[in-house]
Amino acid sequence: MELVKRASPLQIYKLLDRSNCKECGRNTCMEFVTDLLERRVKLEDCPPKHLPPKKRKQIEELIKPPQLPLEFGAGKNLCRIGGEEAFHRHDLTFFNPTAIAVEVYDEMPNLMDVVKHLDEFVVFRIGENLTLDAIAIRSSSNNPDMYAKTVKLVSDSVNLPLILCSFNPEVLKSAAIKIKEKKPLLYAATKENWKDVGKCAIELNLPVVCFSTDLDELVSIAHSLEDMGVTELALDPGTIMGAGYSTETLNRIMQIRYSSIRDGSELTKHPTVGVPASIWAIDNPTSEEELFAVQYKEALTAIMMLSVDVSLVIIHSGRTEEEVWVPLALMTYRQNIFTDPRIYPRVDAGFFEIGSPSRNSPIFMTSNYRMTKIPVEQDIKDAHIDSYLLVVDTEGLGIEAGVAGGQLSSDKVAEAVNDFKVFDAVDHRVLVIPGMAARLSGAIEDDANCYVVVGPMDSSGLQKFMEKDWNLEQFMKEYNDR
Ligand code: SF4
Repeated sequence: MELVKRASPLQIYKLLDRSNCKECGRNTCMEFVTDLLERRVKLEDCPPKHLPPKKRKQIEELIKPPQLPLEFGAGKNLCRIGGEEAFHRHDLTFFNPTAIAVEVYDEMPNLMDVVKHLDEFVVFRIGENLTLDAIAIRSSSNNPDMYAKTVKLVSDSVNLPLILCSFNPEVLKSAAIKIKEKKPLLYAATKENWKDVGKCAIELNLPVVCFSTDLDELVSIAHSLEDMGVTELALDPGTIMGAGYSTETLNRIMQIRYSSIRDGSELTKHPTVGVPASIWAIDNPTSEEELFAVQYKEALTAIMMLSVDVSLVIIHSGRTEEEVWVPLALMTYRQNIFTDPRIYPRVDAGFFEIGSPSRNSPIFMTSNYRMTKIPVEQDIKDAHIDSYLLVVDTEGLGIEAGVAGGQLSSDKVAEAVNDFKVFDAVDHRVLVIPGMAARLSGAIEDDANCYVVVGPMDSSGLQKFMEKDWNLEQFMKEYNDR
């Protein structure tokens, strides 16, 4: 069975003028085609004099993903969702990982402090800055003037794209009109309000989320809006969690994705939205323990939605430092599941300075598995250890697997020590190896002519190791006494 229906590079190449003029910034038309399919260039990068409208249209049709993309926000602060071609990440790749938005409300007492916190929230993990993607502002007041004033204030103070949330079209429009140039996402059109929300979306040229827990009704709302002329839509099939409901909630998201991406159905060709924040409308915690239970349920719901590749989740928790674990868990999970499966997990071997090492600084050793090297480097930086890091070529395997499979051996370490002239940088011959490679210590000492110190099992223990176990004088005495 063909899993992903994609245009072949040759189909697109034949429609170009094949002059290799380089005006798109690529050396050849074929290079342009490859980058176009990977969304590294846009079709507009090939100018009209080389690509007449008829052929442009044909290419547009060929590269149109079965699930349409949706963008909200403006300028550098864009949030892109949907636009996927593959049902499973391992079939191809996902271009737009699930966006994570945190919900606030217009009557919130400390609103401006909270939105500032959300806007600035960033965590560095495995070579990436993890951030939130949007702020959803709910109108709890149902008062158009109050909502419009609050939304404008927030919009002027943050960079993150905004989602405007109300089932009252008058409330939605009052705020949308104030910040239309920032292209907020309107949430939501329902069977009761779709005409008015649709008019607002067309007038202000804004994208809309349709909401219904009945899939037929949801599709019908989307179609009615399309007929009106709304072009950018997303589908929220409702979030109900708890006994008997969780599976249904996830199934509805999967059904929408399945019918568009796998079956090519026009009816469901829009990105999907999940709102774990809606759990708080049912659960009303009255103690610390109950509060944690609801947060936990919300986090779990959002993670399950991420695991079925929903395009956008809106959560409630994460507004304060105490609740930071909820978005952190989601962003970490997202980073893990959305890593491009085609990127080989190997980084370059080498010898690297961390901080400002001196001639007495320690030399740590690790493997060239991306998920090992980057966290080790980060742990050393976080512990402020001025040092050197020797990255041995283990063919992209981690320490434990490399030792077991022979990709990390004393020969390999000795080769790296010689190739990178490791001990020329210091006035000692001490090498700190990971605890998981302890059984190679004797052989490394012989093959690399050095004194090996077995470090902690996990690089998070390096700071403690340096404080308690690092004794260069003693190590060198033992090396010289051998
Ligand atoms: S601008 Fe168009 S014609 Fe020129 S190299 Fe790029 S793809 Fe080919």
